[in-house]
Parts: sequence; C-alpha cells; structure tokens
Amino acid sequence: MGELNYTLRDRYHRTIDYLRISVTDRCNLRCLYCMPERGPDARGRDDLLGFDQIERIVRTALDLGIKKIKITGGEPLLRKGLVQLVERLAALKRVADLSLTTNGVLLRHYARDLARAGLHRVNISLDTLDPSKYRFLTGCDALPQVLEGLDRAVDVGLTPVKINAVVVRGINDDEIEDLVRLTLDRPLHVRFIELMPLGNKEFWRPERFLPGDEVKRRCKSLGRLLPLEGTSNSPARPYRLAGAKGVIGFINPVSSPFCEDCNRLRLSCNGRLRPCLYSDVEVDLRKALFNGNRSQAGLADLIYLAAGLKPLGHQMEVKTEKSSRCAMWQLGG
Ligand code: SAM
Ligand code: SF4
Repeated sequence: MGELNYTLRDRYHRTIDYLRISVTDRCNLRCLYCMPERGPDARGRDDLLGFDQIERIVRTALDLGIKKIKITGGEPLLRKGLVQLVERLAALKRVADLSLTTNGVLLRHYARDLARAGLHRVNISLDTLDPSKYRFLTGCDALPQVLEGLDRAVDVGLTPVKINAVVVRGINDDEIEDLVRLTLDRPLHVRFIELMPLGNKEFWRPERFLPGDEVKRRCKSLGRLLPLEGTSNSPARPYRLAGAKGVIGFINPVSSPFCEDCNRLRLSCNGRLRPCLYSDVEVDLRKALFNGNRSQAGLADLIYLAAGLKPLGHQMEVKTEKSSRCAMWQLGG
C-alpha cells in the first residue's frame, strides 16, 4: 500500500489513529478490580500472536492511518523479548507515539533497554503509595520496585511518565492528595481513573465508585487547579496545581464517557481486534494472518471492518450489571 497518508474514519466520522496492542494476558499482580483471583487460563500460550504477526498488523494499520501505538497486557513486561518488539515497531519510523502501559514491577530492569530500543514513554499503574495497601490491592509486596522503576523511567527519558491511579472509594480515596503531591517537584503526570464495571466482576460495587468530579474537588484542597490545553483525543482532562511541575488528569469513562472522541482500536494478544472496550464485538485478524492468506489487503479489510463496527457509545453505568466478556487484563485497558 506504500506510504500514502490515509486517514481511517469510522461511520460516525471519528478519526481512528490509535492502536492498543496487548502482548500477553498474563500478569504478575492481581489487582482486585482487574483480575479474578485465579487469573487467566492457559489461553494465550499457543495462540499468542508472534512478533512477525504483530509487526504485520502494525505496518498495515500505519498504512491505514494509525499513528499511535500503545503496548499493554496483562503485564507487557512479562512477554519474552518485548524489547525486541519495541525495537521492531520503533524502526517502522511512522509511529508518532510509541508507549507502554505497565504495572512497573519489572520496569527497573527494562527501562534503559526500552528507551534504547526506541520506546517514547511509559504509563505506570499505581493506585497507592502505602506498602500495605499496595499489597492488599495487588496481592504483591512490590511497591518499592515500582517506585524504583518509576525513577528509572524518568532517568532514561521515557517521559512524560504518566501514573494511572484507579480510585476506589473506601480503599485508596484517602490518598488522592498524596498522589497529587507527586506532581509538585517533578514533571510527572498523575491521572485519576474512575473504577469501571469491567474486569473482576466480584469486586465491582456501585459504593466503590468515586466520580472524577469528586476526585477533582479533593485535588482543589491543595491549591488552585489551572486547566491546561488537552491533547486531541486524550481522555484525560489536564490541569496543573498552581506552582507544581507536573500535570494532573481525570479520566472519567463512567460519569463522563469520551466516546464521541474515541480514536482507538484494541488488539488482543491472540489476534482479535476490538472496536470498543465495552462491547464484545471483535474481528478475528488471524483469518488473514494464518489461513494461507498472506495479503496485506486481507488484513487491511479486517481493520477497516473493525473501525466500521465502532459503536457510537457505551452504556457503562454505575448501577450496571452488564460487563464485557473480555476483561481489562485481556485487552489492556
Ligand atoms: N498491567 C498493565 C498495567 O496495570 O498498567 C497493563 C494492563 S492494565 C489492564 C491497564 C489499565 O487498566 C491499568 O491502569 C489498570 O489500572 C486499568 N484497569 C483495570 N481494570 C480496571 C477497572 N475495572 N476500572 C478502571 N481501570 C481498570
Ligand atoms: Fe495486572 Fe494491570 Fe490488571 Fe493489575 S491492572 S492485574 S497489573 S493487568
């Protein structure tokens, strides 16, 4: 298809330029809101997409107009050879933004190599700065390692380092101010995410939900919140606490869905493309990857199809019982 500059649009005229790629559904943590206690089954071992296939999909997606790639999981740093995958995707040059979302536990080991391989930046999921609460929320005593990984990421220039914190009423909402203070002296981005009724269904309860507006009100107790220019299609509304070096953001998928600006497609680790996180509709790319069909056109058609299937919006509600069959740890959020 050459290097023409296409724009991929869905039927509601939204530009689709962002692909999130899950490279594994395994994880070394068990975040209460995300993973069921027993974690993923053996799926993902024998039907996992290889790096050649991922690269083919990314090349085709870039031809169609995708510009931003996020590597996610499960925990992406558990995927063997991930640095090589980053190197391959970075070498494609046309990726305007190549980022990784990680729980940060292993980041101290990989940050330098990832930066050398061409990764632009990382998002680190971190909901608490309290070691015992961290253990309670994730099932693991790994807070010091995560904080070390965060420092390493800043040192090697994987910036801006964005910290994603899911706020759960009654568990970590007393730490909102402490998390905001991380932005005072360093140019970190702290983004508060509303708890969604996705992932571990046993954990979700409406009483645990704290709307982003309430989180924002709590942030204001620390000083003036200055609104900043947002990046197009970013779901986070950015602010700076007066005098702070970093940025605070609020991602409110439940109380204030950003569907009308949704620009993303999600690839599962076994080759299924999801037009919407909150819908079970998916397009199986393996048909074009494995069934003797090696043509780029077949793959492009399926990516078009997935973009065309993007719904106008989701009905994620606080009181909902509905949940997508595919959980966050399978799709990477
Ligand atoms: N393991 C990596 C991590 O934790 O960053 C990548 C995958 S994880 C599924 C991606 C993001 O989804 C994390 O920031 C996590 O907090 C978020 N997440 C998972 N379940 C969620 C839920 N029920 N509500 C809101 N965010 C959720
Ligand atoms: Fe693992 Fe990320 Fe889910 Fe936590 S949020 S269990 S780190 S996949």
